[in-house]
Amino acid sequence: MIESISESTHSSYSPELLRYQKTIETPAEDYLFYRQSFRGIPVSNGWLRIDESASSKEFLGVHSRILDDAGIGQIESVGEFKPWVKEQAAVLKSKLAMGPTRQWDVLDTKLCYRIDKHKPKLAWKVQLAESKGVRSGDVYIDALRGTRIVVLKSTWSSPMAKGFVFRPNPLVHMDADALPDPKLLPTASYIQVPIPVSRSSRVLRNDYAYAWSPNSESHATAGQFFYDASDVRFGQTMALYYATWMQLYLGKTLGFSRANPGQVEFIVGFNREDNSYYDLARNRVYLGLGGIPDFQDAEVILHEYSHAIHSVINQPLSLDKSSINFLEGFCDYMALSTCEHFKVKHGGLSQEFAAWDGWKSGRRVRDSLGIRRADDDDLLSDTENQIHSTDRSDRASEFWTGVLWDLREAVAGSKAGHGDSVVLGALYKIDAPYTASNFAKAMLLYNRSHYSGHKEKSIVEVFTRRGIPVGL
Ligand SMILES: [Zn+2]
Repeated sequence: MIESISESTHSSYSPELLRYQKTIETPAEDYLFYRQSFRGIPVSNGWLRIDESASSKEFLGVHSRILDDAGIGQIESVGEFKPWVKEQAAVLKSKLAMGPTRQWDVLDTKLCYRIDKHKPKLAWKVQLAESKGVRSGDVYIDALRGTRIVVLKSTWSSPMAKGFVFRPNPLVHMDADALPDPKLLPTASYIQVPIPVSRSSRVLRNDYAYAWSPNSESHATAGQFFYDASDVRFGQTMALYYATWMQLYLGKTLGFSRANPGQVEFIVGFNREDNSYYDLARNRVYLGLGGIPDFQDAEVILHEYSHAIHSVINQPLSLDKSSINFLEGFCDYMALSTCEHFKVKHGGLSQEFAAWDGWKSGRRVRDSLGIRRADDDDLLSDTENQIHSTDRSDRASEFWTGVLWDLREAVAGSKAGHGDSVVLGALYKIDAPYTASNFAKAMLLYNRSHYSGHKEKSIVEVFTRRGIPVGL
């Protein structure tokens, strides 16, 4: 048992071996990493990684594929420690190997020993990521001959990166009475999750999202996205995580594989205002920094991403100015519904959209109010003039969120995702004019075509109770 690697006298861990040491900081804990090297050059796949806590020096684990004496002897016999091939030539060759018709960003280049057919070779390791796309990979070029040793293309579904997110926001994990200072959130608010980009990626970009900020540091360590919530890069991680998660839920779980807006760009912290929006022409979501930064509340991210969803399903509806309150209500519903099962602990927060984003100093956790609600019980007649107009009205959109939520409850206990499917499917079926009645009709039609009319009576009751005329 090794108590502390850095103070160890264990003969396997010579000072030479431990020359490459670095600290990885995370909000929860700092870790020390050591890499094996030979004459100052890291060994790429004969490496030794030892994790220990930086503060307590507690030993956490060793990942050892240590290069043994025979391996060291091999390197010694090659006798080459200086590359003959220039770095630029290796980069060019690597780009060709990854795909000559694409544009590549160079994330990192370093000299290393790569073990190839049991023999260590001096090599350039070039890490590349596609400039406007999702591909990335590592290419090893023989630094003496200029030939290609290996091309390791990565996809985000194979070994994924890791990082911190809120699930869906810090309130859900709070026992304390008073709301905490957003700058001093308890460690328990952060959840470690797989981040859906490749483990070798230093860019938050996959098939569904690309998250970046105008003024932010780059991601220092490939595959590690552990940030404090005050760091805008935490918001990039949240945006990519939740957009991907929602797309997989819609596409894979509910079967709406064509409700996919492609790679949505998230510009995280684009200004200091307390607002966010989706830009259809650019397929972009802008998240503002004001108040509680919108990126700290997953419901806000999911709401904006839902705008991309209805836009790809039904563009005429999405461009119709007098449908704004239906669409806002729909996006709140989607955000709340997909987050609902994360809210296991704090039941009192259910059906409130953006409860964390609505943070107010001095408020208590259980009394914290969301920005909008889903439990409103208005009748259509209370809000009819607003909901069918081009004026944005919270009361009208809350009415609609409430109707959709009632439908969700009415079909609960039937097939999982029944409510969400009917709400989404109606967007394919609805005809103009986009009225409450026509939405109701479209939901019933979708329920007939895809659920054989299961629970139709309960759904009709929801509309009747809200004063929405339905005729089929
Ligand atoms: Zn909106």
